[in-house]
Amino acid sequence: MDRTATATGTAFVYTIGCQMNELDSELALGALSDSGITAVSRPADADVLLVNTCSVREKAEEKAYSWLGRMKALKRSNPDLIIGVLGCMAQKEGKLIFRRAPYVDIVAGTAHFTRIDDYVRQVRATGKRVLAIGRDEEVQTEKRLKARETPQSSYVAVMRGCDHHCTYCVVPNTRGAEQSRELEEIVEECRILVGEGTQEITLLGQNIDSYGKRLRPRRRTLAELLYAVADVPGLKRLRFVTSHPSDLKPELFQAFRDLPNLMPYLHFPAQSGSDEVLKRMRRGYTHARYMELVAAAREAVPEIGLAGDTIVGFCGETEEDFERTLELHEKTRYQASYIFMYSERDYTPAKDQGLKDDVPLEVKKRRINKLMQLQREWSLAENQRKIGKVYEVFGEGPSRKDSRKQEGRNPQHQVVLAESGRDLSGQFYKVEITSATDAALYGKLV
Ligand code: SF4
Repeated sequence: MDRTATATGTAFVYTIGCQMNELDSELALGALSDSGITAVSRPADADVLLVNTCSVREKAEEKAYSWLGRMKALKRSNPDLIIGVLGCMAQKEGKLIFRRAPYVDIVAGTAHFTRIDDYVRQVRATGKRVLAIGRDEEVQTEKRLKARETPQSSYVAVMRGCDHHCTYCVVPNTRGAEQSRELEEIVEECRILVGEGTQEITLLGQNIDSYGKRLRPRRRTLAELLYAVADVPGLKRLRFVTSHPSDLKPELFQAFRDLPNLMPYLHFPAQSGSDEVLKRMRRGYTHARYMELVAAAREAVPEIGLAGDTIVGFCGETEEDFERTLELHEKTRYQASYIFMYSERDYTPAKDQGLKDDVPLEVKKRRINKLMQLQREWSLAENQRKIGKVYEVFGEGPSRKDSRKQEGRNPQHQVVLAESGRDLSGQFYKVEITSATDAALYGKLV
């Protein structure tokens, strides 16, 4: 690699997808900034344009291609502009991206984004495209943290990849098998972040409940990790996502009881309420088991906020199956639920095993609309029960929709809006809830 070519200039990253992608974009920008490339907020001001992609749903891939299509005009007016595709779609599609968007210079998969500065240098020095998707040269992504900006609220990846093979999911294919980071290394990173001003840390893992199971010589658990991170002096709020119902351990509920800075929020997707569908999804639990976990979580932490993900219209889903999903939602009373319509994806076990995407589109649409409507009503009813309560809120600054209101999150991770003449970002303040919608709580500063 030609190290003499410079990598100075400006970069813009467009992030699609999950929190792990948001973190990866931050780390990629960190790597670029180490090389003197600074972040800008508009594509038109950038010398390097990156899109960090997601493959979980077809829509996310279409979004990436349509963004790339829009960037083509910038490349036409500036041939030196470097365009790169990072993340899951890069990993999954590889060279196909060059065929579909020939003006792309870099395709870097899920294990390579922190080398983006090297790839930019390489393109500038040789004029040739870079394709980096092999697993053999995996990088320790979190090692290069020096240049990362330290926000008030930070993500820390504790593991990457997933050992489950849920039949609808492309993640094990794009991100590979589970790899946990050493506990001490994670705690050290959290210590540094808090030292630099972070007050809230969210630990990330595709299936975070199985954290540490492959670490040697000593296996570790998520609970151990939570106790260790919660102990970092000065850390005000600790969160973790995403949980898998078949890996969630009872000791986790004890951690919620013991650790005052572990926030009462659990995102653990059920995906379906039908045992038959759960079997076909290969999720490893039943409706009844899921409800036991909901009861255990509520018993341990009565005010816990539960969030879920649900797929409607999975292969072979009948009306009865769907009714079971409605029932699960009605009983669980999620404070937030991310509901999607199934569509067949390449490189998933469902496709490889010939599971038929056989629920007609109009049936899927009817079911998703019904579930979303009911979920909105249930969320509204739950939120209205919070009127009169006082929450400690961590401020995120003025609301984008109404700048007179300050937006923040309560311990349950719900959006709370309150009027204030001051910018309260990065501050803790108390709000008494006076009204609610299905998506947010509104109140007055106390
Ligand atoms: S647990 Fe299942 S849905 Fe979640 S990342 Fe792993 S395979 Fe995908």
